Amino acid sequence: MEFRLSDEEEAFQGAVRRFGDKVLRTHERRIDAEGRIPDEVLKSMAELGLLAMLVPADYGGMGASAVLTELAAEEVGRGDFSMATAVFFLLEAGWGHVLARHGTEEAKRELLPPVCRGEAFLGIATTEPTGGSDLAGMRTASRRDGGAFVLHGEKAFVSGVEEAKRLGGGHLTLSKAPDGGFNFLYVPTRSPGLSTQRFENMGRMGISTGALTYPDVRVPEKFLLGAEGKGFECAMEGFTVARTFVSAACVGAAERALETGMAYIRERRAFGEPLGKFEGIQFELVDLWTQVEAVKWQCRRAAWLLDTYTLKGDRSHRSEVDRAVASVKLTAPPVAFECVKRVMMWFGAAGYTKDVGLELGLRGIMSYLVGAEGGLNIMRIILGRELLGKEFVPYK
Ligand SMILES: Cc1cc2nc3c(=O)[nH]c(=O)nc-3n(C[C@H](O)[C@H](O)[C@H](O)COP(=O)(O)OP(=O)(O)OC[C@H]3O[C@@H](n4cnc5c(N)ncnc54)[C@H](O)[C@@H]3O)c2cc1C
Repeated sequence: MEFRLSDEEEAFQGAVRRFGDKVLRTHERRIDAEGRIPDEVLKSMAELGLLAMLVPADYGGMGASAVLTELAAEEVGRGDFSMATAVFFLLEAGWGHVLARHGTEEAKRELLPPVCRGEAFLGIATTEPTGGSDLAGMRTASRRDGGAFVLHGEKAFVSGVEEAKRLGGGHLTLSKAPDGGFNFLYVPTRSPGLSTQRFENMGRMGISTGALTYPDVRVPEKFLLGAEGKGFECAMEGFTVARTFVSAACVGAAERALETGMAYIRERRAFGEPLGKFEGIQFELVDLWTQVEAVKWQCRRAAWLLDTYTLKGDRSHRSEVDRAVASVKLTAPPVAFECVKRVMMWFGAAGYTKDVGLELGLRGIMSYLVGAEGGLNIMRIILGRELLGKEFVPYK
C-alpha cells in the first residue's frame, strides 16, 4: 500500500494549485457575475491539459490517470470557489472518458480534440422535467430511421446548454429505445430543431443549467455510444467517474474554507484572546479537518479503484467500486457545505458579506446536495443495494 503521491503527481498538483491561485481565484467573482467562464480561462486550462484529462493522447487529451484527475479536481474546486469551473472540468473529464471508451472511431476523431482544446463543450443529459433519480421512468425516446436516430422528448436541469451553443458541442443523451433498453447518443446542441432554455440558478452561475427540447431531432448513427439499446451501462460508468471528481472538487473547496477560517481565527480576537484559542472554535476546526482528511483519502481511493478496474473496462470489482464512489459522493458535499457554513459563522457578521466570499462556496456546493450528479438518497440506495442485496432496492 502506498499513500505518497509520485513526484510526477506532486509536480502536477503543484502546477494546478498555482493555476488555481493565480487564474481561478482572480476570476471567480467575474465568473459568478458574468455567468460564464472566460474563454481565456478555458484556454489556460487546455494548455495545462486540464480539459477531458482522461482522454487518450490520440484524441487530444493527456491520457491521465483517475488519480491525477482527482488531484486536479481538488485544486480546481479550491481555486474557483463557486464550483462553476469544477463542474466544467469534471463533465469534460467524466464524459470525455465515456465517449473515448464507447464512441465510434469517427465520433471520437471529430468530437474529442475540440473538447480537449476548450473549443467545444461536452456534457450529459439524463434528467427530465418529470424527474432525474428514476432514470428508468424517463420519457425521451429514440428510434432508428435509416442511418440516423430520431430523438423525441425533453431534458431539464442540464449543465452546459449555453456553453454547448456558444462554443459548439453537445450532450451525451440517454433515451428509451423501442425494445425497452436505452440508447446513449451524442446530440449536438446546434442540431436542426433542437431548442434550449436557460434556468436561473442560485449558484455556480459560471456554467449554465437549462432545458433541451427535441421535437424529432435526427442524430447520425455515428454518434451512438455502445450498442443499440444497451446504453444504460455506459451512462452509469460516466456517473461513477464523474461522481469521484465531484467529490474531489468538494474536498478542495472544504480545504479552502478551512484555510480561510484558520487564518481568521489566528488573528481575530474576542475577550482579549484569538478566536482560535477558544475550544468552542478550535475543536470545531479539528473535527471538520478530520472529516475532510477522511473524505480526501476516500476520494483518492475511489480514483485508484477507477484506474485499477473501471477505466480498463474491468467490471470484476463493480460492487467495491460502486460502494467507494457512492459513499464518497454521499459524504463529500455535506462535509464541504458544513465547513463553509461553520467558517462563515467564525467570521460573524463579516461572514455574511460578499467581501469574505464564503457565500460563493455555499451556493455552489449546495448544487451537490440537491441533486447534481445524483441526489444523496440515490447514493444511499446504491449503498443499500450493495450492502444488503438487490432485493432491498425500494424500486424496480
Ligand atoms: C446545478 C445542477 C446541475 C445539474 N446538471 C445536470 C446535467 O448536466 N445533466 C443532467 O442530466 N442532470 C443534471 N442535473 C440534475 C440532477 O441529475 C438531478 O437533480 C438529480 O438526478 C435528481 O433528480 P431531480 O432533481 O429530478 O429530483 P427527483 O428525482 O425528483 O428527487 C427529488 C428528491 O427526492 C430524492 N429521492 C428520489 N427518489 C428517492 C427514493 N427512492 N428514496 C428516497 N429519496 C428519493 C432525491 O434524492 C431528491 O432529493 C443537475 C442538477 C443541478 C442542481
